[in-house]
Amino acid sequence: MVPRMGYISPMTLNRELIDILACPRCKGELKLRADESAFECGACRLAYPIVDDIPNFIIEEAEALG
Ligand SMILES: [Zn+2]
Repeated sequence: MVPRMGYISPMTLNRELIDILACPRCKGELKLRADESAFECGACRLAYPIVDDIPNFIIEEAEALG
């Protein structure tokens, strides 16, 4: 991968980061899915997918849970 000027490093998943993450919709607590493929908000019933270790917190792109 070639670094580009002005490129902001993607967030990498680590436990400290997970501790500070909040749902962008309700600001509630997010749970990391067991297989680490998404963050889930139980209150909103939404799952925010994690692609290439980068969480996608775009509400419109979140998957509805169950
Ligand atoms: Zn939420």
